[in-house]
Formats: sequence, structure tokens, C-alpha cells
Amino acid sequence: MSKFDTEWTWMDGGFVPTEEAVTPVLSHTLHYGLGVFEGTRCYRQADATSAVFRLDDHLRRLRQSAHVMQLPLKYSVDEMRQATLELISRNGHEKCYIRHLLFIGGGVMGLYPGDNPPTHFSIHTWDWGAYLGDEGLKNGIRCRVSSFERPSPNVFMSKSKTVGAYVNSILAKRDAVSVGYDEALMMDAEGNIAEGSGENLFMVRRGRVVTPPLRAVLEGITRDTVIALLGDDGVGVHEGNITRDELYTADEVFLTGTAAEITPVREVDGRVIGSGGAGPMTQRIQEQFFRLVAGGMPERSDWLAPVAVTHRVTA
Ligand code: PMP
Repeated sequence: MSKFDTEWTWMDGGFVPTEEAVTPVLSHTLHYGLGVFEGTRCYRQADATSAVFRLDDHLRRLRQSAHVMQLPLKYSVDEMRQATLELISRNGHEKCYIRHLLFIGGGVMGLYPGDNPPTHFSIHTWDWGAYLGDEGLKNGIRCRVSSFERPSPNVFMSKSKTVGAYVNSILAKRDAVSVGYDEALMMDAEGNIAEGSGENLFMVRRGRVVTPPLRAVLEGITRDTVIALLGDDGVGVHEGNITRDELYTADEVFLTGTAAEITPVREVDGRVIGSGGAGPMTQRIQEQFFRLVAGGMPERSDWLAPVAVTHRVTA
């Protein structure tokens, strides 16, 4: 068992022991990358129960991804929500990361997957801590602007979270890590900063909060959450192009994502950002975000899907 394995996986309509949730080597997705997925988090609540943050929004985005990629997904948001919540409960998680994956199985080969390819749908859960490390979450990470660009919407459509598109992210991330950085920032085809390898980006500069427009980046659910939280505080977010030197001279930079949560950026390409740690705006957003996901903002309780009392089931 690897550290990612939990007892149960939901696959094609039912719960199966994780070791039985396998796919044939001749899976079309394995060969060509046409599949879609979601990453979602379940948090421990202040009252010791568990709840999934913005589950329906993630499931709607999954349906959107499948639609863009013309992959049949026969489960409704309601069915997927129910399966997800029950899986978390069965696996006995207090908190976890959830991976929904829609992929093409065996039976078709060659680039044309057919008009109605045979898809499989799986849900997997595991315990995943701070994606960019606890230290990074607290004091900020070091980023490198990558020479690998984000594809334009006519190369890879960013409104779909497509499996194969992540090769582009992996190339950038590996490059950044190989020279000692924590994360890669990627430019769009026009040379503006677009996003991290798996995160959206925000910059605070001269009193304005700016985030890149959605043209070439994923419609991040954490990004949307941050915009809403800032809005509650009367702070508007400007969607605009960001050049690398604007980033170098920003007062604060932070990344947002389900895995990365709210991660401050303390350095970009060897230039220290602001005071070199988590700036005041970043700290405030982080505090609000972690309060929100733990159930500390009753006015936003509709963003939390409660997990029924955990009843761990053994296979
Ligand atoms: N951009 C990319 C490329 C991502 O993979 C992710 C993670 N899903 C994000 C942004 C952040 O999106 P979200 O906040 O919905 O997780």
C-alpha cells in the first residue's frame, strides 16, 4: 500500500477495495491523455465533524470539463456528491484530498476515441497535508518564472481540467525544482504571467489587488473564494495582465489552489517580494480562508458539504 492508498475507492457505480480499482494498460487516457479530473479538499470542522469545501462547484467543473472534452459522464452532481461523501466516511477520514477522475478505458486505440468512448469514473481519497509544505504556507515559497508557456486556448482549453494538459505543468515544475525553487510561474503566449503550475496567482501592488484574466488559466475555485472574501471586506480585485517585472516589484504575491490553499510567495527569480514573507493582505486572506473551510463563517455554510459521521468500514 502506498501512502495515497486508502481502503476504498469508488469506481463505476460502487465501492471497491482500492487494490481492485485498476485500469487496463490499453487505456486510451494512459496513452494519449484525454481524461478530466478534479481535486477537492475535505476539512475538519471546528466542531470536530468533517465537511467538503465547495464540493458542488468542483463537481460542476468536472461536468464542464467532460463537456468541453466530449467525454461521456453519466453521473449527476447529486450522485457524485453522495458517492464522495460516503467514500470519505467509509475511509474514516477526518480531513482528506479527493480525486475525481474520468478516463477512457480499454477497447479503443488510435487517436480517434470514437463518438461515445467507453469511460470510467473513479473517486479516490487520501490524507494530503500542505502541498507546498508547512513552512511555505507560513513563510512563503520561492518561485521561478518558467520558460515553458501556458498553452493558448486554441492549444489546450483552460476551462477543462484535462489530464494531458498537466504535462505542461510538470515540465515547468520540474525545471523550477531542479534549480532549487519551490514552484514555477508560467506566462501565457503573450508573455504575461498567467498562473502557477497548479495554482492561480494574485499580486498586491500599489494598493491594488490584481489577478490574471481567465483566458489561459483555470477558473480556480479558490481564486473565486478569495475574490468573494476580499469583496466582503470591500476590496475589489482587478483582472488584468501582469508582467514579470510588475511581479518583481509587487508588495505581495500569493498563490491559490485546492492543494496549495493560500500560499505566500516570498521570492520570484531571486527578487525578494515585499518584506520577504507573508504580507499583511496575504495573512488576512489566509486567516479568513482557514476559518471559512473549518466552518467558522456561518454566512457561507452553503460552501461546506457535511460528511455523515465517519463509520470506517474495513474491506
Ligand atoms: N490552475 C491550475 C492549472 C490548477 O491545476 C489548479 C488546481 N486545480 C488551479 C489553478 C487552482 O484551482 P482550484 O482553486 O479550483 O483548485
